[in-house]
Amino acid sequence: MVDIKSLNLDELTNLIVEKGFKKFRAKQAYDWMHKKCVASPKEMSNIPGDLKEWITGECDFCHIKIADVLTSKIDGTKKYLFELADGNVIESVFMRYKHGNSVCISSQVGCRMGCKFCASTLGGLVRNLSPAEMLEQIYEISKDTGERVSNVVVMGSGEPLDNFDNICKFIELLTDENGLNISQRNITISTCGIVPKIKELAQKNYQITLALSLHATTDEKRKEIMPIANSYTIEEILDACRYYFDKTGRRVTFEYSLAKGVNDSFEDAKRLVSLVKNINSHVNLIPVNPVKERDFSASDKKNVEAFKKVLEDNKINATVRREMGRDINGACGQLRRDYIKKNT
Ligand code: SAH
Repeated sequence: MVDIKSLNLDELTNLIVEKGFKKFRAKQAYDWMHKKCVASPKEMSNIPGDLKEWITGECDFCHIKIADVLTSKIDGTKKYLFELADGNVIESVFMRYKHGNSVCISSQVGCRMGCKFCASTLGGLVRNLSPAEMLEQIYEISKDTGERVSNVVVMGSGEPLDNFDNICKFIELLTDENGLNISQRNITISTCGIVPKIKELAQKNYQITLALSLHATTDEKRKEIMPIANSYTIEEILDACRYYFDKTGRRVTFEYSLAKGVNDSFEDAKRLVSLVKNINSHVNLIPVNPVKERDFSASDKKNVEAFKKVLEDNKINATVRREMGRDINGACGQLRRDYIKKNT
């Protein structure tokens, strides 16, 4: 079966012509899938019956269904639980900001990176998501809310650079002017730091933002909380970030989740300054979101501010991530885990 929603317009055109249909039908079908975001070929009203039949019979027309939605009464943030065609479930989040609406998507079902504070990795990796399954999260959310999505962050479950080819295809389809036409500058890919893949991504020369999950200032500490640190040192990661900036001209974001007594000391803040000061970057501090199965707790507010002040006093650009949907804000991955527990 051809995964028809994961094809770009050229690939779709070649396939449609090869199957004996008129070339211009490809653009029409692409429009239905990626602009009007239809859930089924039946909805493609100007497509002839024989082409619809071929799509229905020979293609996998990816569609994901909303299994659950939690809506914040505070700021309208929505957490979606989606069911995939094979019964797996994934999470995505819709957030409203002054500068536009943002969707946070998952890139894999589960994750194999094993970070100690993260809920998404508890059951390991189940499988990669296809480009279409990543797009569908955005399509379904924009239909459900009736609002345009202008920013996309790949910060849900999964390690995007562990699903490299699909993530690249996803970026190309999402930013295609024949589809949702989201600006590359409004897309952020977050990685735990797979060095060779960061370099490969840099070579693609996209104008997307790379977010690097650093979370520690020494290799010893990083190894304690992020198994990927056994493969790449902080120095190698920072080199890859410099390379990313040199190639793309895009400032890198460093994510630093603050866990009480783990990585939030004054010394940590000073070391973080010396690590990032020569890189064109921005630091995003995230008080850790407690996960039931793990014993990390968030740094105190005072400590977070003190940490930020050390960065700012040393001319490092830093923000504390604003908490969205405080009333529905279980840690990322928790909604899926609760659903699996209830349904098995
Ligand atoms: N695999 C990618 C995307 C994962 S999640 C990555 O590692 O970057 C996006 C961010 O949320 C990462 O920085 C991740 O480390 C962080 N994160 C995961 N669990 C968290 C938690 N419980 N509290 C705070 N941040 C968390």
